[in-house]
Amino acid sequence: MALVEISQRGLYCSAGDFYVDPWSPVDRAVITHSHSDHLRWGSKKYLTATPNVPVLRARVGDVDVAGAAYGESVDIHGVRVSFHPAGHILGSAQVRIEHRGEVCVVSGDYKTDGDPTCPPFEPLRCNHFITEATFALPIYRWPRTSDVMREFDAWWQANQAEGRTSVVFAYALGKAQRVLSEITNVRGPILIHGALARFAPIYAAAGIELPATEYASQEAVRAAKGAALVVAPPSALGSPWLRKFGPVSTAVASGWMRVRGARRRRGVDRGFVLSDHADWPGLCWAIAETGAEEVWVTHGYTEPMTRYLNEQGKVCARAIETRFKGEGADEGEATPEEAGANVEIAPLPPLPAAVASPETLPTAGEAAT
Ligand SMILES: [Zn+2]
Ligand SMILES: [Zn+2]
Repeated sequence: MALVEISQRGLYCSAGDFYVDPWSPVDRAVITHSHSDHLRWGSKKYLTATPNVPVLRARVGDVDVAGAAYGESVDIHGVRVSFHPAGHILGSAQVRIEHRGEVCVVSGDYKTDGDPTCPPFEPLRCNHFITEATFALPIYRWPRTSDVMREFDAWWQANQAEGRTSVVFAYALGKAQRVLSEITNVRGPILIHGALARFAPIYAAAGIELPATEYASQEAVRAAKGAALVVAPPSALGSPWLRKFGPVSTAVASGWMRVRGARRRRGVDRGFVLSDHADWPGLCWAIAETGAEEVWVTHGYTEPMTRYLNEQGKVCARAIETRFKGEGADEGEATPEEAGANVEIAPLPPLPAAVASPETLPTAGEAAT
């Protein structure tokens, strides 16, 4: 039997009797990172990379969670489990599973570009690699981050000259902090939406240096007189929340901005190509580095990636089912029409009151827009 199989509740390791990023509550859940398409509330025990523990608690409340440092092995019923940097967001990890000389790596979401908010993606040798494929089309090639941030700086400067507040939409966990961390020239006050504020102490405690921010109240935005940069989650796009700020210029930071027309469909003034996921060359490189003979492909453009890998003839590739087709608005990346996928998101399990605020949690309705 394979070391990891696909089951009703997601990826399952029968030798260790645990699931990786299960779709519904299980006895033992091993978690790659805290985006809501990977982390669900209700499991009895959670195991994750140590830097993800506080992030996980912020998402699902005070659950039974154990952390393992990157590279440290944990024995689960004779199966060796370890976490290795995925370069995706704070605390994100690939899960390496070893049993009787067989190694399987579950990548979770990853990127191969640098990111000041998390350690870089670590290539791992394995027999079986399970990869994401959010941007698995050859058109997706990321520009250099320094070039993107130069454009970003020019945009902020131009808005200030016109007395407009600059509002950038970026997913509240991961992308928003990456945007902040990449800002080279702090031209004015940086104000943040409430959805981001809850993660600020976690990033500070993790020792990640971000520019100073304060809550984006109407008064703070007015006082800044068009000089401020506001960072907000994509759910605030087109919402009444934005209207109170007066004249604004809007932008989205997302890998989807690589495609012509994506910015217009979002109804924003500017698009900055900045993704938390690997681009096509990054995916191909990461897969080749594993030396795996078997590759399973999940999340996003699974068919093109699978076909390409099989045509190359070096690996045996297969697309696997996911409950979450496309990442959904939650990640601030995929929208269904942009991802070319049908988003089918099952109803969310009950959430503890501490995190069930409409401002901070995506809903099925939001994910489908
Ligand atoms: Zn993610
Ligand atoms: Zn994901």
